[in-house]
Amino acid sequence: MLSSPRSLRLGRAALLLACTAICVVTVLQLRATAAPLPTAPAGPDRWVAMRFARLVEANGRVIRDAVIVVHNDRIHSVGGPETPVPPVAALVDLSRLTAIPGLIDVHTHMSYYWDQRETARPWEQLANRPSAVTVFMAQENARRTLGTGVTTVRDLGSFDYMDIAIRDLIQRGFMNGPRMFVSGYGLQITDEVPQRQRPLQDSGRADGVAEVMRVVRQQVAAGADWIKMYGSTGSGDDVSGQQTFTYEEMKAAVDAAHSLGKRIAIHSYGASGARDAVRAGADSVEHAVDLDDATMQEMIRRRIFYVPTIDHNRYYIENAAGFGYTAEAVERMKSFLARNLQTTRRAHQLGVRIAMGSDAVMTMFGQNTRELGWFVQAGMSPLSALATATTAAATLLGKEKALGSLAPGYLADIVAIDGDPTTDIRSVIHGVRWVMKGGIVVVSQLNDEKNRLRVMD
Ligand SMILES: [Zn+2]
Repeated sequence: MLSSPRSLRLGRAALLLACTAICVVTVLQLRATAAPLPTAPAGPDRWVAMRFARLVEANGRVIRDAVIVVHNDRIHSVGGPETPVPPVAALVDLSRLTAIPGLIDVHTHMSYYWDQRETARPWEQLANRPSAVTVFMAQENARRTLGTGVTTVRDLGSFDYMDIAIRDLIQRGFMNGPRMFVSGYGLQITDEVPQRQRPLQDSGRADGVAEVMRVVRQQVAAGADWIKMYGSTGSGDDVSGQQTFTYEEMKAAVDAAHSLGKRIAIHSYGASGARDAVRAGADSVEHAVDLDDATMQEMIRRRIFYVPTIDHNRYYIENAAGFGYTAEAVERMKSFLARNLQTTRRAHQLGVRIAMGSDAVMTMFGQNTRELGWFVQAGMSPLSALATATTAAATLLGKEKALGSLAPGYLADIVAIDGDPTTDIRSVIHGVRWVMKGGIVVVSQLNDEKNRLRVMD
């Protein structure tokens, strides 16, 4: 705790000291971000104080000339310019920028990496490359995600437990990337004839209640934080949305996950799979279009989240040539995208809880928050859109006391953006300049000399 707090209004001598401190600290921070792995300043007790033009949260709280004091990995205090700052605190001047909470993307596939120097199609590359190599390459996906202000992700589908490896490498400081909640193998039904020439990546394969229970337990035993179940067809250029698992199988997966203290996301492109996922009590329903009002009311009643992932079809459409998708497939994706937007509009009107998931794969990392633009098109205010990537997403993760807000005791995940997120969501999507994750600066674009040397006064 603080022994002798002081105000930011320092005397001349103290100001000089502070100037020296901030110059040194800011340069250190910038050096740290230039290196591949940012490291924490030495010492058991780290204090950092930051000043911003304003602080904005999804609940509408705005503080002008905001000061945030961080102690180690947590936020210690938040307030206006009079906020007491401990004498030992390093001072960081971000007074031209707006502070928002670190963002959360609740649907990624971090291990899906596309090496664009290769001629093979991205899905083919992923299937044929050794997983250890992919994990190494996926560092780029993780870094690009941080660059969008996303400091936490829920990763919904990988194989060979690459997601668990990436999560742990980030946590142990060997990789720079967002905090990850991962799901291991997504559960899938048997839906193809085994092909002799290709090893089956089928550790998520399950048919019938008993197998569903076994595969859920296997993912948890392997270290998964979440369970992912593919309740319908649909992926990449396939937007067909035929239900796969039955209601009974979904219910078995939900019960098995919940009894082990884990939450479950059920993927369904179509309405029927989503309806059964809701009846079965999934914690979130991913992608689905054409949800009827009764299903949406049931989602409200049971506090089930809708994660629309509208933007991932925009990404596939724009990159159809690279993926080898046909013109007909592009037309189908365009029509799906329009229905996805319409379903989101209706869900928001009725009051269904919505969380931001990009469904980022391959080179979509770095575009994780474009989904927020669709949410505003679907009728959300910029602040409601911000909530889907902060407070709402944190609630979906069960981390509403640690993530999604800039309040004392929360993890020090702070994003500095250029612009005003209360009026323009583009400031969140395109305006990220600086990112702190758990008290460590992980992104900084503040490399102009003037900004580097400015001090708090
Ligand atoms: Zn996905």
